[in-house]
Amino acid sequence: MQKGNVMNGSDCESIFAALSNYLDGELPEADCNQLERHIQDCAPCVEFVNSLRKSVRLGKQYRPHEPAPALSPGVKRSLEAAYKAMLARQQEPPPEKP
Ligand SMILES: [Zn+2]
Repeated sequence: MQKGNVMNGSDCESIFAALSNYLDGELPEADCNQLERHIQDCAPCVEFVNSLRKSVRLGKQYRPHEPAPALSPGVKRSLEAAYKAMLARQQEPPPEKP
């Protein structure tokens, strides 16, 4: 994985790619910081990450003696679909007001 330059500006798709590693605990701390920095400036990402964290925390509560479980592929897929739908919505022009 590239280091340092993974996330540039406000590329939500890069953020999502990094989030997978983030959730797996494989993201270097520097990249975590970049990710969190982007998220601070990106309201849709905030919501998305909050829901991700909730799932991760639920997993931790379920098995407190084990490290955070990896999300199942099915969960990841549905999160990815939700995220892409969110991005598509974000890219649509705002509804015109008469
Ligand atoms: Zn974003």
